[in-house]
Amino acid sequence: MMNKKREITLPLLLAKSLTLVLMCTLLLFLWDASAEKSKAKEQMKKETANEQKAAKKETAAVQTAAKKIPVKKHSETKNTVIKQPAKMVSPGDADTIYLTFDDGPTRTTGKLLDLLEKHHVKASFFMLEPGIKKYQDEVKRIDKDGHSLGLHGVSHSPKLFYRSPETVTGEMKTAQAALRSVTGVRSSLVRTPYGSKPLLTAAEKKALTASGFIYWDWNVDSDDWKYKDKNVANEVYKQIERQKKNFPRQPIVVLMHDRAGSLSSVDTLLTKLKNKGYQFKTVNEHLKPVQFR
Ligand SMILES: [Zn+2]
Repeated sequence: MMNKKREITLPLLLAKSLTLVLMCTLLLFLWDASAEKSKAKEQMKKETANEQKAAKKETAAVQTAAKKIPVKKHSETKNTVIKQPAKMVSPGDADTIYLTFDDGPTRTTGKLLDLLEKHHVKASFFMLEPGIKKYQDEVKRIDKDGHSLGLHGVSHSPKLFYRSPETVTGEMKTAQAALRSVTGVRSSLVRTPYGSKPLLTAAEKKALTASGFIYWDWNVDSDDWKYKDKNVANEVYKQIERQKKNFPRQPIVVLMHDRAGSLSSVDTLLTKLKNKGYQFKTVNEHLKPVQFR
């Protein structure tokens, strides 16, 4: 009987022990896992705290840096007009000439274009809306020949043009639309009648810029509308040489007029300038414009 009881008890004991060992192992495993978990939690807490510290430091650094930026600069950034190209290129030095013709087109524009073609020179034309409508073939040829297209307004009357910021931008927009309907080109290059000084007010300048226009003045005035003889060419040449000597780093922008009386002067002047090795360029939207100060 005893033996039989023993026989039954031994495997039972073995099974019980095995279960105990298994349970212990399981418990140990579970305890280990939970320990690992809390360790990870601890680490995470530490890292978060470190990150928060770093973020605080960074915020403080940014605030300090922001304090160092002058207020004026900030307001300038705010006023920057987005319509213009972000970066404007230098228009060159005093070996570069920008010939500009105002007040056209006229019935003699074709003759002026023939002369420019003869001398292989490209120029820039600041045109009035009535002429653009009247001499459409001439406007198309200016474009086709590779000259630059610019605007000069509608009325050419200081009283009407410079009356308000609205009249300044309004005349330029009217001329812009006319030029676009004839050539398909949308030009934002302008010259205000008689130049920006002293007639163009600060508010009008701001309005022009806000409408996307870029205005060009000049630094050599041919006064070609005053004379009919060839002295204009000599006068302009003298002024160009003086400008080159005094401001060698500034390009030369010559104001001339698209008119019958200027044709012979243009011929003489171009012969002279070509012989002296001057380069001719045309204005475009990417150049930093030459403006009166
Ligand atoms: Zn003019």
